[in-house]
Amino acid sequence: MPKPIREVLTNEALTGATVTVAGWVRTFRNDRFIALNDGSTIHNLQLVLDPEGTPRELVDRITTSAAVKATGELVPSPASGQRVELQVKELIVLGDSDGETYPIQPKKHSLEFLREQAHLRFRTNTFGAVFRIRHQVSFGIHEYFHDNGFFYFHSPIITASDAEGAGEMFRVTTLEDTKGTDPSEDFFERVTNLTVSGQLEAELGATALGRVYTFGPTFRAENSNTARHLAEFWMIEPEIAFADLKDDMDLAEGLCKHLIRRVLEQSADDLAFLDKRYADEEKQKPEAQRSSMGLIERLRFVADNPFERITYTEAIRILQDSKPYKKKKFQFPVEWGRDLQSEHERYLVEKHFNKPVIVTGYPAAIKAFYMRMNGPGDLGHSDQGPTVAAMDVLFPGIGEIIGGSQREERLEQLKERMAAMDIPEKELWWYLDTRKFGTVPHAGFGLGLERFVQFVTGMGNIRDVIPFPRTPGSAEF
Ligand code: ATP
Ligand code: MN
Repeated sequence: MPKPIREVLTNEALTGATVTVAGWVRTFRNDRFIALNDGSTIHNLQLVLDPEGTPRELVDRITTSAAVKATGELVPSPASGQRVELQVKELIVLGDSDGETYPIQPKKHSLEFLREQAHLRFRTNTFGAVFRIRHQVSFGIHEYFHDNGFFYFHSPIITASDAEGAGEMFRVTTLEDTKGTDPSEDFFERVTNLTVSGQLEAELGATALGRVYTFGPTFRAENSNTARHLAEFWMIEPEIAFADLKDDMDLAEGLCKHLIRRVLEQSADDLAFLDKRYADEEKQKPEAQRSSMGLIERLRFVADNPFERITYTEAIRILQDSKPYKKKKFQFPVEWGRDLQSEHERYLVEKHFNKPVIVTGYPAAIKAFYMRMNGPGDLGHSDQGPTVAAMDVLFPGIGEIIGGSQREERLEQLKERMAAMDIPEKELWWYLDTRKFGTVPHAGFGLGLERFVQFVTGMGNIRDVIPFPRTPGSAEF
């Protein structure tokens, strides 16, 4: 097997050795210098051909994105910006690439164009960096939970519960035509959907195993064409028994910081590239919309500073005292009882506090049935109306990145909330059982993987941080 270029470029013991590498040609200059990339790192290895010893017909086959394998001596490079290069002794073309029709030319393409070439976009520096970082984040998630005594819990992808209310669902059926057919004739003999959240099942896991987390695909048929919504995305949902809202916030903050530190350490080269890219993009924006920090600077800042923690009631007050509110610049109303919109979240994070913010104690009426009802003395209790032990983590440039809560563990209160929200008890009999048999305080949250990767990579559109985005009207590839 050829050696990964990442290793060839970093392992000093290889200098002077005979090495075999393989990859895709990024550029070819003067019939002599190949910049080869194999995806293991953002850096290319320079291959130097022997002008005499390379037949013309072979030279002609070295085109952009051709796959080649080469063996030669790794020698110190006289060129600047690279420690070593490969003096090629033997080179074969594994796969030709027609330079004329290859869609991704060695020049800057727009992200929109590359989305239409999603099958090939991984061969660009930007997407290579993004997907190597996505891996580091995913791996770091398992690492963090594993090291903290959590068990990876696989919640089902096909579910029958439609009570959660997290979003519109995709129906799963084997019927040719669902109209007028009794669901009992369907495969599962009932109506089933793709999951919108693994939380209810994670609660079942946590109330036996103590600490669990799910990490899997999640589906929402929400028709929102925004830069932060996908119809298929990956969600991480930890759930902890014997924990309250403060524990939940600490866990969320700890996880975010661990992941950021890990990427800063493991993906320094990719981040350096994305940092420059981000700075270039910011320059295109009008002054007022530019971020106050560079990408890496912001990652360090978030990793090193405590998140701001405020209640929903305080958030409303801050917003009502704000300049954009007074100048009627917000599109949506700010009023106790209404949900915070993205513009409000971003004001709090980017203008007011200039750091991540955790908002707790949202009005009960705008949150899900399973969130714990606050009483006097509880965090986020308000005299303006009933609130629940919810928390949203808001990040700069993104808005909501995490939504979580302490769960209602008291059977009577839970039943009351379900009745108020028209959720039939008989559909969730298994969920209610956990409150009947040894119920305990517990809490958890949902982190959207893609939103987090957006934050870390500085990519503005969520479609550019998942290999094959699924959005309304779009499921090519
Ligand atoms: P939003 O208000 O932004 O639509 P939500 O309140 O519907 O989010 P939750 O149901 O709390 O979100 O889901 C938990 C997390 O999952 C969110 O904080 C976000 O990071 C992520 N998420 C939710 N919906 C989507 C989506 N359609 N695409 C990508 N990520 C999502
Ligand atoms: Mn949503």
